[in-house]
Amino acid sequence: MPSLITQQDFRIVQTLPFCYLCGEHFKLSDDINRDHLPPSALFEKEDRDVPLILPTHVDCNAEEHVSDEFIGLFVSTIHGRRPKQGHSRLNATAGQFEGRSVTFCKDMNIHHFILRCVRGFHAALYHGWLPEDTINSFHPPLRGGLIDGITGKPADAVQAMLLLDKGVQQHALFSKVVKENRIASNSDKVVSRNGKCTYECVWSNWDDGGPMCIFGLKIYEWQQFELRFGNEPRGCTGFYSPAAGQPKNATRATDLVFPFENIDSLDPFGK
Ligand SMILES: [Zn+2]
Repeated sequence: MPSLITQQDFRIVQTLPFCYLCGEHFKLSDDINRDHLPPSALFEKEDRDVPLILPTHVDCNAEEHVSDEFIGLFVSTIHGRRPKQGHSRLNATAGQFEGRSVTFCKDMNIHHFILRCVRGFHAALYHGWLPEDTINSFHPPLRGGLIDGITGKPADAVQAMLLLDKGVQQHALFSKVVKENRIASNSDKVVSRNGKCTYECVWSNWDDGGPMCIFGLKIYEWQQFELRFGNEPRGCTGFYSPAAGQPKNATRATDLVFPFENIDSLDPFGK
C-alpha cells in the first residue's frame, strides 16, 4: 500500500522526473519550481512540516495562484482568523432552497483546488501523471461553491442545489467506502503538514470494468464549516477514473464488511 507519511517518503517524491501538471519529463534546460501542495499559506506555522513538494515547470505552476487565494480565505474562516489586509472576505452566503439551508461561496473554485491536490497526490503515490481532463466527480466540504462544468464559472445557488441533489447519495457512498477501508487498514495515504492534511484512497471498478479511485481529503477541520449553517458535517470526497487505468501498486477496496455506526454520513473522516 503506497503511502507518504515519513520525511523520507516525502523526500523521494521531490525528485520525480516529470511535471505532475503537464506530464512532460523534465529536460536539463527546463526551469523547474518546487510546488508545495497544498500551499503553505493554508497552514499555521507550527503545522508546516512535512510538506508535500513536487517539481513542476515554472510556467505550468504560474497559472495556479488565483484559486489559492480563495482557498486560503476559506481555511482562514475555519481557523476563525481575519483575512489579511487587502484580501476580501470570503464571499459566502447562506439561504434557503426548498426548505433546506444552502451555503454558497462565490468566486471560489474549490473543484479546481481539489483536482490539483488529487493530481499531486496521485503523482506522489503512484509516480504517474494524472491528466487534468481525467473523468472525475468531487464532493467539496461545503454545499455551494460548485463550478459549472461547461463554463468553468461558479454556478448560481439554484444550479448548485440541483447539482447537489444528484450528488448527495454519491457523497455518502464514497464517504462510507473511505471509512470502511480505513477500518480495514486498507488505503493508500498521504499524511502531511503535522497531520493537518490527510488524503486516503482506494480503487475499485465501474460495472463496465473502468477503474475508479475513491478518495477522502481533509484539511484541518474543514468538514465543520457547514455546522455554522445548521447542517451536518460535510467532508470532502469524490472519485476519478484515469484513462491509463489503475496503477499497478494501487490498493483495491476491501470486499470485507466491517460494521460501524456511520453517524456523519457525509464525512469520510467522521464517526
Ligand atoms: Zn509542466
